[in-house]
Amino acid sequence: MTISSLFSLDEQVALVTGASRGIGKGIAVGLAGAGANLALVARSESTLIETQQEIQAIGVQAKIFPCDLSQTEVISDLVEAVSAAYGRIDILVNNAGTTHRDSAVDFPEERWDDVVRVNLKSVWLLSQQVGRGMIQRGGGKIINIASLLSFSGGIRTAAYAASKGGIAQLTKALANEWAPKGVNVNAIAPGYIKTDMTSAILNDPVRVAEFMDRIPAGQFGTPDDMAGAAVFLASEAASYIHGHILTVDGGWMAR
Ligand code: NAP
Repeated sequence: MTISSLFSLDEQVALVTGASRGIGKGIAVGLAGAGANLALVARSESTLIETQQEIQAIGVQAKIFPCDLSQTEVISDLVEAVSAAYGRIDILVNNAGTTHRDSAVDFPEERWDDVVRVNLKSVWLLSQQVGRGMIQRGGGKIINIASLLSFSGGIRTAAYAASKGGIAQLTKALANEWAPKGVNVNAIAPGYIKTDMTSAILNDPVRVAEFMDRIPAGQFGTPDDMAGAAVFLASEAASYIHGHILTVDGGWMAR
């Protein structure tokens, strides 16, 4: 096998959640560039069209599957629809995420439930249902999007930190069970990346200065910075990597 074929995703089918913008879009376009056909998931069709067109221009397939992942009972329909359209799912990127900021004493229960449902429970259910097919076929790659708050607690974001801590442990738990079946389960922990989710922070000059102080690379990341790590973990090159949480953070964790 040549080095370029080791990283090729030709003929692979990748399902990416939260592919309408931000990190999910960057990863979906990156996987397409490596040859994968894409199943794109977000809440509404209209938000996914731009990603679809960008991927089709690369010359691979991109199909849209609208799904609200906070409604966890519809996840089996999603997996069935993607499997029916493409025949199988080789790569699952659990990227969709949401957050809510509030002090812990005031944190509303319904916001807690929403964050945990989207960020953690849907990841568990999608991994379980897509993982069954991967185990049957003896191979597949699952990539969860963790966070720096998989390692530390953050402030005013208890549900998000709890969900991302859960993602790190779920990644390891699934890896332990599924590595012997040929399924690789790993995670990417992005640092501070310029997206809608971080716009409040990135528009606050005081916080920007604080963060810059801690990022050895001297700049915030972009969604495109996540693509290489995702292609790597989705490829044969990562076949002996299991349960790893790969920080892509400009050096934040090294500080
Ligand atoms: P973003 O720009 O806000 O994008 C979030 C994505 O998730 C959108 O595509 C959104 O789609 C989708 N989504 C949200 N709720 C959904 C739901 N109920 N059902 C289906 N899709 C839903 O955020 P981002 O920064 O790219 O974040 C992507 C992932 O990276 C998240 O898991 C986040 O926690 C993680 N992360 C981000 C950073 C960062 O610095 N940005 C750092 C660490 C980790 P629609 O709104 O179109 O439905």
